[in-house]
Amino acid sequence: MVNRKLLVVDDIEDNRAILARRFAREGFGVVEAENGPQALELIGRHRFDLVLLDIMMPDMDGFEVLERIRKRHASSELPVVMVTAKTGTADVVRALELGANDYITKPVDFPIALARVEIHLARKKAEEDLQQAHADLQARVHQLEEAIEERNRSNARIEHMSRHDDLTGIGNRVLLNDQLERAVRRVQASNDKIAVLCFDLNGFKSINETDGHAVGDQILKGVGARLRGCVSDRDTIARLGADKFAIIATEAASPQAAASLCDRILQTIAAPFEISGMQFHVTGSAGISLSPNDGTDGNELLKSAELAMAGAKSEGANGFQFFRPEMNVEARTRRSLAVDLRKALSAGELEVVYQPLLKLRSMQISSFEALLRWNHPDKGPISPADFIPIAEETNQIALLGDWVLRQACEAASGWPRDVKVAVNVSAVQLRQSAIAESVVRALSASQLPASRLELEITETALIGNEDRAAATLRELRALGVRISMDDFGTGYSSLSHLRALPFDKIKIDRSFIKDLPSSSDSMAILRSVTGLASSLNVETTAEGVETEEQLDLIKSEGCTEAQGFLIGRPTPNADVLKLISRNTAPLRKTA
Ligand code: C2E
Ligand code: MG
Ligand code: MG
Repeated sequence: MVNRKLLVVDDIEDNRAILARRFAREGFGVVEAENGPQALELIGRHRFDLVLLDIMMPDMDGFEVLERIRKRHASSELPVVMVTAKTGTADVVRALELGANDYITKPVDFPIALARVEIHLARKKAEEDLQQAHADLQARVHQLEEAIEERNRSNARIEHMSRHDDLTGIGNRVLLNDQLERAVRRVQASNDKIAVLCFDLNGFKSINETDGHAVGDQILKGVGARLRGCVSDRDTIARLGADKFAIIATEAASPQAAASLCDRILQTIAAPFEISGMQFHVTGSAGISLSPNDGTDGNELLKSAELAMAGAKSEGANGFQFFRPEMNVEARTRRSLAVDLRKALSAGELEVVYQPLLKLRSMQISSFEALLRWNHPDKGPISPADFIPIAEETNQIALLGDWVLRQACEAASGWPRDVKVAVNVSAVQLRQSAIAESVVRALSASQLPASRLELEITETALIGNEDRAAATLRELRALGVRISMDDFGTGYSSLSHLRALPFDKIKIDRSFIKDLPSSSDSMAILRSVTGLASSLNVETTAEGVETEEQLDLIKSEGCTEAQGFLIGRPTPNADVLKLISRNTAPLRKTA
């Protein structure tokens, strides 16, 4: 135990000396004071653990000293043990009233004095320990409180992160699922309705691949921000995957309201994004499901909206569809077709057929369009209009397109020199820069001059990053290949594309030919396209010519070429040469 300090106060030196010596022997540090003022002065300057205070002293007696001590030190802090005469009961009472902790009588019986001193010191120590423990406890409680607060803060952060998308700051799938379940329960109770919108960005993947992820990220962020502006606070918006988003619309539960919200969203997204000085255009395809018809729980509603979105996507860019129950079946069919398609090429189920095009000035066959056919072993022939979109979605188009290109060039190399071949190029292929390489390889393998190859590109292929599309087209044209705009009139902002992009030919879509000559609208469009084309020095082909009357009409309107069942149906390459030789004389005379 550390040296405990006693102050022994007594005016009689012998008394002091005896006590001091004996306590010192017990290991105490002892200081002596011969009167009250000296004692007070020592207490003021030093720390003592206990005072042994004689009552009977001249000038200032023990009571007064005690009173003064107690003004500054509580009895728990500085115990005072009075030393009194054996007969002084009244003194003892008074001393205790003034705050003495205990007393011993004179002559001092040392073992008793020691025992009492020890008791008070132990009590004092216990008291101090208790106070320390209390202070420690308080500090610990404070620390714990701080730790809890910090943990709550980081829990809230983690909670937020686990329910939100890092990049855009809008919700993620977890949040969406949660809110969806909640919304479904709420509307079940109230008979209200909710709409779920799901959409993704057309051609986003290729922007990511060709312009880099930094640009892709900026676009996604922009989409997130624009979405926030489209919906109310009660709606939930979330990013579900790379470029896939969903919205729970609580205030758009009628088909009309959902449709107009969807329209607004698609329009908002379609506005150009300006990123480091470049403009990017993205469009979305959206699907809508409505509770309770399209799903009884959140999962089913979301799935329905996703199926509707897939439906919209297959219809082309920037549109939306409502969920229809048949979509479940359609989706299953598409999935199984996608699987079958992977085997189709190696199983020899694919074939390229060739449809003739007639030059109207000479009435000679000028070229053949290569058209892909799939003879499915169970399902029979499947239209390219049905399986090309599947090939595009499942990343098989580059392979198929390359195969068609090689087949077509090979076939054409066996035809007369003045007969060209036209090959369709999908929007997805055009965005992949490998298309030029694929063309070069097909030409060199077949020895076909580039000038005998035409590539047909639909207008919608150009939507998105037109600068890039234009660059690819120029690259292809630099090889000596000719470029045709296919299905003209079915996309949008058609005429502006024509001026901006390097085309050699416009193929007017069949939908404008089939109603000729009765439809005045179709006549007007035909006339304006041929007028524009001749001013741009571009050829025009009329697609889907089925009657003599249509042929006469397009000829008189200035079309330079005709394609359609009247001129000839798509045929295998084996019959192409026969067709050409039969048609060396002008068509109508042989027909
Ligand atoms: P497209 O490029 O506009 O091809 C013309 C389509 O119209 C062909 O349909 C052709 O058979 C059809 N057609 C031609 N004349 C007439 C007519 O007088 N009346 C009617 N009713 N139809 C006529 P097909 O072969 O079913 O091809 C559909 C579309 O599939 C093509 O439209 C083209 O966009 C795409 N496609 C076909 N083959 C390929 C290919 O190898 N690659 C790519 N990317 N797309 C292809
Ligand atoms: Mg075509
Ligand atoms: Mg066409």
